[in-house]
Amino acid sequence: MLLGYTDEIDTSASKLKRAEKLLDQKPVLPKSIFDLCIWASDYYHHPVGEVFGAAMPVLLRQGRLATREIEQFALTEAGKDLDIESLKKAPKQQAALSFFKQNPEGANRADIDDISASVIRALIEKALIERKLASPGYFKFEGVEHQGINPSAEQQIAIDSIRKTGTYLLQGITGSGKTEVYLRLIERALEQGRQSLVLVPEIGLTPQTVQRFRARFRVPIAVLHSGLTDTERLHSWQDAASGHAGIVIGTRSAIFTPLAYPGLIVVDEEHDTSFKQHEGFKYSARDLAVLRGNLEQIPVLLGSATPSLESLHNAQRGKYSHLHLRERPIGIATENYSIISLKHQDTHNGFSDRLVKLMRQHLEASGQVLVFLNRRGFAPVLLCPECHWMANCARCDARLIYHLSRERLICHHCGFESRVPKQCTKCQSPSLLMLGLGTQRIEEHLKSLFPDTRVMRIDRDSTRLKGSFDSLLDEIAEGKPAVLVGTQMLAKGHHFSNVTLSVMVEIDSSFYSSDFKAIEHMGQLILQVGGRSGRAEKSGTVVIQTHFPEQPVLKQLISDGYGAFADTLLQERRETSLPPFSHQAIIRAESTSPTLSLTFLDEVAKVKAPPLVDLFGPFPSSMEKRQGRFRAILLLSSRSRQQLQRELDKRIISAEQSRQSKKVRWSVDVDPIDLF
Ligand code: ADP
Ligand code: ZN
Ligand code: ZN
Repeated sequence: MLLGYTDEIDTSASKLKRAEKLLDQKPVLPKSIFDLCIWASDYYHHPVGEVFGAAMPVLLRQGRLATREIEQFALTEAGKDLDIESLKKAPKQQAALSFFKQNPEGANRADIDDISASVIRALIEKALIERKLASPGYFKFEGVEHQGINPSAEQQIAIDSIRKTGTYLLQGITGSGKTEVYLRLIERALEQGRQSLVLVPEIGLTPQTVQRFRARFRVPIAVLHSGLTDTERLHSWQDAASGHAGIVIGTRSAIFTPLAYPGLIVVDEEHDTSFKQHEGFKYSARDLAVLRGNLEQIPVLLGSATPSLESLHNAQRGKYSHLHLRERPIGIATENYSIISLKHQDTHNGFSDRLVKLMRQHLEASGQVLVFLNRRGFAPVLLCPECHWMANCARCDARLIYHLSRERLICHHCGFESRVPKQCTKCQSPSLLMLGLGTQRIEEHLKSLFPDTRVMRIDRDSTRLKGSFDSLLDEIAEGKPAVLVGTQMLAKGHHFSNVTLSVMVEIDSSFYSSDFKAIEHMGQLILQVGGRSGRAEKSGTVVIQTHFPEQPVLKQLISDGYGAFADTLLQERRETSLPPFSHQAIIRAESTSPTLSLTFLDEVAKVKAPPLVDLFGPFPSSMEKRQGRFRAILLLSSRSRQQLQRELDKRIISAEQSRQSKKVRWSVDVDPIDLF
């Protein structure tokens, strides 16, 4: 990768590598993506080579060309001159030739699916047509199918508000028609010959999203997510970069995909934490999208039912334009939220009698019931009642989770597995207790409560086999009464038109979490789970079971909605000077010794910080030991992004110079999502 050149350099010649070959005649990346990478390397304090590496498909890095060549067929001079009548005896060849006469510029392989390979071969042998390799060319927008949908007044206002540049926050509850707004804007871009980039949170979401786009537009669509082979990924990238794809849909890393004619960037579910990369190059694809829009002078649309507090703050101070969809399209009901208090109520395997009764009512009325719990496995605690020994992971500060189906104890943080002990390993007592809830336990319990009802579990364990997730989704779509037990996998993106009741059995840990974003994420999750139901004509009920029914933010979320809830949280963040009212960065360190990470960070923290920057720590991470390594963090915070960056630069230099720096693994995380 050639970033620049110079005539003079301090490094000795022996350390330099020779440039061997010029692979591409034109720069592989357009200037905007180049600048985006340089900016990201600087802002996230990550080596520029790795940033460019992350921005390009593997095969491209390995030397494959940035442009794709595809097979094309076109008439030869002889073919042009030939009278079509002379092929009377070979009607298939005649039909094919007349097709080429109508398309004198030739056709791609994909465009002539209905002409058989043998006919093509025969025409080539007669030298009437020739095969060429050519780049696929810019997309042709060949039509749109509105499926009878007309934008509502609110949608039209949103659509009309989006101008040639700027960042827009589109807030509207699930089912309020945000995607329809994206589709209209993409259509507008396509009509102008411009491409759109759509970022979505997770691969599980992509098939449904892509289907909806394909049903709407007759235009090539390139898809980019982690489930592709290297070759597929390269092709999608090439199609985006060459302008062959009119729409590019992808997950986080697609933000670096060049577009020949950029027109629009959409970030759907902009609050989703999966837009932030947690390992290695720790960038936020959402934040880079905003920057990229600016560089390319195109509009960026951030959409969510539950926008992040950062984006709401940016909207409130006028950096983003705030657009709302307050009503669902006619015929789509809204859901009702309510709380079941667990005070003075017994539960069995996590379910109160009131909740079970309610579930029974919905099942008897032929509805489906969704039960959400964000923990796989059967039980998170294996406890000896005699000596209080617990099964902990030897490599992490975490409990081992009992998995019923595999009869194993598994650590969800490092993957460590072990047999289930028959007796306490400390006092040999044979009566070990399994405490706490996992999806497997809930599944077992609900099967015994509702023996005649289908109970389906949807989590990473139950969908490991290829196609199993899809077949579960198909079964749900049939609409027969059923209980669906699942994790995040179930909560994201899918529409379950027959779910009339959604249940959250365990949200309480958010109320005593040390993570200041825990409540924000809880609120987003509640509405996300709630949004799975009530999409169709049947209105949905959402029930939250909690020991903290009097929590004001929870009550506010339910009675006044996300906007009021978010305002309260923003007010709290303002008073405590937490993000988005300040900016944070973390220097993380880990090592095999329990003290070394802390000693190292102590050294980095030694020099006093200037007035506008606060330094916290170093302290051990909230999960100090993970995968056998001891982890610690140093937190920097400032109201000024610039000051924070400057201070971070200094600290990084002192980290590099530290005597310990070779013995610890350390990394920088700017705008961290969590402080683990
Ligand atoms: P969101 O993206 O906010 O969850 P969608 O765009 O998926 O909402 O819309 C929810 C449902 O409402 C979809 O089935 C969509 O086809 C339908 N819909 C959206 N806008 C309209 C409209 N203006 N008229 C009729 N149906 C609409
Ligand atoms: Zn572990
Ligand atoms: Zn014991």
